[in-house]
Formats: sequence, structure tokens, C-alpha cells
Amino acid sequence: MKQYDQLYINGTWQSSAGTQWVEGTNPTTWAPLGKMVCATPEEIDEAVRAAHKAFPEWNARPLEERAAFLEAIADGIEQHQEELAQFIVEELGAPITFVRDVQVGGSVREIRATLEELPRFFFQEELENVTVLKEGFGVVACITPWNYPLNQIQRKMTPALLAGNTVVVKPSSLTPRTALALTQIIHEAKLPEGVFNLILGSGGETGKALAAHPKVRLISFTGSTKVGQSLYEEAALGIKKLILELGGKSALILLTEGDESLAVSRCMETILNNSGQSCSALTRLLVPREKLGAVEALLLDYAKRVGVMGDPLDPSTKLGPLVSKDQYERVLDYIEKGKAEGARVLTLGAPREGAGYFIPPTIFTDVTPQMTIAQEEIFGPVLCVMAYDTVEEAIEWANDTTYGLSGAVVGPEEEAFKVAQRLRTGNVYLNAGKANPKAPFGGYHQSGLGREMGLYGLEDYLEVKAILK
Ligand code: NAP
Repeated sequence: MKQYDQLYINGTWQSSAGTQWVEGTNPTTWAPLGKMVCATPEEIDEAVRAAHKAFPEWNARPLEERAAFLEAIADGIEQHQEELAQFIVEELGAPITFVRDVQVGGSVREIRATLEELPRFFFQEELENVTVLKEGFGVVACITPWNYPLNQIQRKMTPALLAGNTVVVKPSSLTPRTALALTQIIHEAKLPEGVFNLILGSGGETGKALAAHPKVRLISFTGSTKVGQSLYEEAALGIKKLILELGGKSALILLTEGDESLAVSRCMETILNNSGQSCSALTRLLVPREKLGAVEALLLDYAKRVGVMGDPLDPSTKLGPLVSKDQYERVLDYIEKGKAEGARVLTLGAPREGAGYFIPPTIFTDVTPQMTIAQEEIFGPVLCVMAYDTVEEAIEWANDTTYGLSGAVVGPEEEAFKVAQRLRTGNVYLNAGKANPKAPFGGYHQSGLGREMGLYGLEDYLEVKAILK
């Protein structure tokens, strides 16, 4: 069995002395993927100290030099894109076409978009008798999930390093191979020692210990709301800054004059392309009651025509397996809850025979706002269709969960914009509106704190100092 026992500390790969291991399984074939070491408390301390030591020099470097390292990392990801894509498919099970374009290509596009924006940002501003300086916090603990195993690290590392911080990354224990491959690319970009460090280990122990380390000044976490809540404890003692990117239960509102096919494809794409394991997936489709029949027919057609489920290495596959047994059982559990609570099944995700955590696209209709499947994040290929009588009711339902990450409105531009203004979410897509790597990304309510991407992401990793003359 392969062994992932290397940590990256102070610019050097070193074998961990850890004696605890986490075993990985390929979600498509169920073949063992190897075992990952859990860093010891001494190694976590060593990584944080290396980052702490490297901070003053890195923070004092001219921005252009920090940017040049990020440029080299983007080039490295591009050069190794196919290798990274293969690791992601192996660990996550997402379809290769999606992985190449969104998971890997998206990482390169996002780094380059932020670099392109830098000339618009001022690290120093003059205000009457005051010079305002913006600079790094110090050591940032980056704790990342498995669903975008490369890009979640990128989204933290890019703004943190550009802002002058140094980082210690703890990736998900389901996707260490991708994180190790990215770290090798960073190593080859020759960052100064200690600026970027990678430790491996389980969330409950390694992640918690990293977040709690007294020399960590900022905890940047992407993952479940439950773990995000628990990190307030680690942040409280040291009054550390917290950036949280958490779960979602996003709604698309189809207006009476809106294009039904567009609404259907927007929702279905997000529940298929990463097996619905995207925090911003549009998992609730709110439709005018009189359009329910037409929308249901379009959904059935889309699921049959586009929802090709199978080997994620086949370029025509749209839907791969769920990432793990836990995730698979969790989604099946929600499907049972939906049936028990009286939602009507339009297409059903019965598990398929043989290896792989596969669940076909599952669409519930006649879902009401109080049902568990309308309130909780399922994180699987499951869509909830809800029929509304008035637009007011649709807006109320869209806002009626504990989350507030993303959303969409399909309808005449002016009316759709007014509805978008009333959604309590960090992102709203209008009609065919496209994602933009310069736009801020993050959530309201329990979907998180702070923003990632572009200059908005950069702001969150900066301390502000006033020098009064
Ligand atoms: P998770 O269980 O919360 O884990 C996320 C990361 O935190 C992993 O590295 C995990 O390590 C670690 N961790 C677990 N317990 C910890 C603790 N007590 N202290 C410190 N670290 C700990 O989430 P996940 O299952 O990986 O990811 C799915 C969730 O992420 C979903 O809810 C999704 O909505 C959310 N998400 C949000 C965004 C966003 O931008 N808003 C983006 C992507 C995903 P282990 O892997 O070792 O457990």
C-alpha cells in the first residue's frame, strides 16, 4: 500500500515521525489509495514556527516579488494540469472533463485574475495627516475540504501570500495526494523557506491543534458549518481572525416570464457536475405553481439526456460517485427522509450494483419549506422542486434557511435584478450570468464570514495600520 508520510516544513520535504494513519479508498473502484500519516504535535509546532520565522521578511518583500512567486505557481499548475486532474479524479471521483476545466483550470484562472487586479489595489493610502498601511497578519492556518481539493487551497494561499502572510495548510484527509502534488509545484517555484508549509492529519486532531496554535493569527477554514462553529473556540483564546467558507442550500427562483429550460439546466448542472458536492450548488428550484408540470417534464428529460453516470475517467461522464462511504450513506439517508416526509419522487437515486459510491440524479417535487430536505445541505445529486404562488412567497422561502451562500433568478432582467437584491446571499446569478474569478465569493448567515477571490479576498487577509503624522 502506498504511504503518504511526507510533510513540507521550512522549504523541505521531511518524513513524519507520526504513528497514526488514515487510509484512503478510490470512490469509483473501492481500490485502496494508500495511507496518509498524521503529523505529530511537535511537527505541527515546527511548521507553525517555520511560518512565524519566515513572516517578517516575506511581509516586507515588495508586492511584485510576492506576485512573481504566485505567477510561477500558476504556471506550475498549468504545466502539471493533467497529473493534478488524474489525482483529483482518483481521490474525489469527479468527472475528468469537469475536473480539467473547473477544478484545475479554475485554479489557474483564479490566481491569474487576482494578479491582474493587483494594480488596482493600494497597500498604502494617504488620508490628511495619516498614512494607512495594509500588511499581513502573520501565520495563517489554512484548513481545506475535499470537494475542490486543489482550488480550495489555492483560494486561501493566493490572497494570504500576496497580503504578506505565511501559511500552514492542512488539507482534507480524503484528498492528501492532490495537496502533496500542489506542494511539490510550490517547492519548484522556490518560495523562501517557511512561507508555505503543508502538514497532513485528521481534522479533529491535526486541524484542531493547528487552529489552536498560539502563533497562528488567522484561521481560514472551508468546510462544514458544524466544524466552522467549533473553530470559534480555537480563535477565542488568541483573539484570532476567522475566515469561514461554510455550507449552503441555495435556491433558484424561476419567475413567471422566465425561461424554464435555462432554470432547469442551471440547477441540474450544479447537482451533476461535482455529484452535487459543491457548497454553492443550486439545490432548490422554486417555480410558479402553474409552471410546475412543464418544469418537471424538462427536468426528467435533462436527467435522462445529460445525467450520464459512470466512470469519471470517461470524458462523456457527467456524474461520478460520491467521495466516500460516509457521504454516500448521508445522501441516501436524506433521500429516505424526503420520501418519509411526503415529497414526491420525480426520479429516484437507487444505489447501483457493484463498486463505487454512485447515486443517480434524484429529483423531489412538491417539496415544502419545512421539510428536512428543503432546509439541510444534502451535498449530493439531489434537487428539491418547490411550487410557489406569489413572488413574495418565493423570496421568503429562498431566504428561509440558516444558510446564505448563493442563489439565482431566471426571468426578465429588471424584475430578476429586483428579486436578486432581496436575496440574503453572497452571490446571485441572473439568467445566464457567468462566474467571474474577480467577483467576491462567500456567504451570509451560517454560510460563513468574509470573502474569497480577487481583491475582496485579499482585503480579508490584511491588517490595517494608521501612522499619524
Ligand atoms: P469538514 O468535515 O468540515 O472538513 C473540512 C476540513 O476541516 C478538513 O480538512 C477536515 O479534516 C478539517 N476538520 C474537521 N474537523 C476539524 C476540527 N475539529 N478542527 C479543525 N479542522 C477540522 O467539511 P468537508 O466534509 O471536508 O467539506 C464539505 C463541507 O464544506 C460542506 O458543508 C460544504 O458546503 C463546505 N464547503 C464550503 C465552501 C464555501 O466556499 N462556502 C466550499 C467548499 C465546501 P478531515 O478531512 O481530516 O476531517
